[in-house]
Amino acid sequence: MNEMNDILRPGRYVNNEWNAVHKEWKDGVSKIALSFPDVYEIGMSHLGMKILYGILNREEGIICERFFAPWPDMEKKLRDRKEKLSSLESSRTLKEFDIIGFSLQYEMNYLDMLNMLDLSGVPLHCRERGDDDPIVIAGGPCAFNPEPLVEFIDVFVLGEAEEIILEIIRIVQGASGKGHRVRGDVLKELAKIEGVYVPGHNIAVKKRIVQDFDNSYFPTDVIVPYIQIVHDRIGIEIMRGCPHACKFCQACKIFHPLRIRSVSRIIEIAEESVKNTGYEEISLLSLSSGDYPHIEELARKLEEKFKPLGVKISLPSLRVGTFEERNGMNTLRRAGLTFAPEAGSERLRHTLNKQITDAEIVEKSRIALSSGWRKVKLYFMVGLPGETFEDLDAIIELSGKIKNVNLSVNPFIPKPHSDFEREEMESLEILKEKQKHLSSALYAMRSKVKIDFHSPETSRIEAILARGDRRIGKVLLKAWEKGLRLQAWTEKFNYHLWNQAFQETGIDPEVYLRKKEKEEALPWDFIK
Ligand code: SF4
Repeated sequence: MNEMNDILRPGRYVNNEWNAVHKEWKDGVSKIALSFPDVYEIGMSHLGMKILYGILNREEGIICERFFAPWPDMEKKLRDRKEKLSSLESSRTLKEFDIIGFSLQYEMNYLDMLNMLDLSGVPLHCRERGDDDPIVIAGGPCAFNPEPLVEFIDVFVLGEAEEIILEIIRIVQGASGKGHRVRGDVLKELAKIEGVYVPGHNIAVKKRIVQDFDNSYFPTDVIVPYIQIVHDRIGIEIMRGCPHACKFCQACKIFHPLRIRSVSRIIEIAEESVKNTGYEEISLLSLSSGDYPHIEELARKLEEKFKPLGVKISLPSLRVGTFEERNGMNTLRRAGLTFAPEAGSERLRHTLNKQITDAEIVEKSRIALSSGWRKVKLYFMVGLPGETFEDLDAIIELSGKIKNVNLSVNPFIPKPHSDFEREEMESLEILKEKQKHLSSALYAMRSKVKIDFHSPETSRIEAILARGDRRIGKVLLKAWEKGLRLQAWTEKFNYHLWNQAFQETGIDPEVYLRKKEKEEALPWDFIK
């Protein structure tokens, strides 16, 4: 019997996809393990992974290979056979690399990061790592509150890693080149880089960003997987940052300031990418793509070039205010359109700094549905500061005015660095009551309104991890020891075991969910 027959989606673990890079392992070359703590389909869809893989592998003295979290069936197989998790490109374990770089996009992936280290034989705790062990780095939005992870991560990258990573590698490589590398010395040197936080070495850190965004590196020969991944297409980042400042939003702060890629550069990237990958779809990416200032020109030029080739163009993230104001929108793909009013009433929206009226949402949805878009998806949050049941009724009323709408409703999480970072998280009981209120009111409209709720329990754990301090590291370790894995996956999430992990470590989760007073220090205050 084929040994992979009993493994779900074996394509996750197969090497040699189109455009994968294989380099010769030799002395004097820096070996970097690009690690994503979720499964292949998620990690391979992430733009940051593609940028870093390209930037690193185009350097002669660097080898960069990929690692993803295994599904539990694969983990069991590895553990049963006493085998280690290995890279896709050369089947080497994490321990054989000089640097392990984790991309932390979502707090619910923290346990998979621990699991990947363990499955590769790397000591989980920084204090247990010796001079010959790899330096473990983490970056991504979650690194903006690094405190829950300081026991496990040696170095945090704050800001845009493509700007910093080569400086880090040079220091690590320089130290290795001199013969025996003393870990403490390397860490001390790394702490001097702007945008790098090494716990115990620096006390205030300023994030680093890409200055010349238009001319910055962008990959045009991304890997084309054998299996379908979440975003199975070319993704071109047209803008970084967001011109708006919604009060609950962490992303607009982390990726501030707004930077724009020129139409000519986007077209150049698109042409190269289509040629190198064979993909037949291009997605134009940014936090708020409809705000791209040259959208009409871009859409026209892309259509001219790619329509004859049968390549589709899509624009995934739009704000209500930008839809159809400009003609270019007409030429873009019409599968589904997403708007994010976030709150049901104009009053509450106003307090979020979300300047969209009900009339605009209804009108833009009507235009979308009558001009060929198949459905409209609206994002809302519940548990927002100052929210009442009237605001929830406003969601119902608004939805009733739109033909064929899907609602996605998520509990509000007061994220670090957002304007609402000191707000409290709504209790589980009230969130559930609000959810029930919406469900029963929308039941009568079920033929035209579909509703999808994000689990309040998952959001509660996410909030604790996002707002956590150093003590949360103990909970993470306990949760991992209890066998929790892939907690970003609904079917794997186990609230009961998380609660046990809090109880057994004697840590009260409520501390992390309550309102923080103005004078109270926040764990992430030292990051500017
Ligand atoms: S929520 Fe969206 S539109 Fe608002 S600031 Fe954040 S990225 Fe921009």
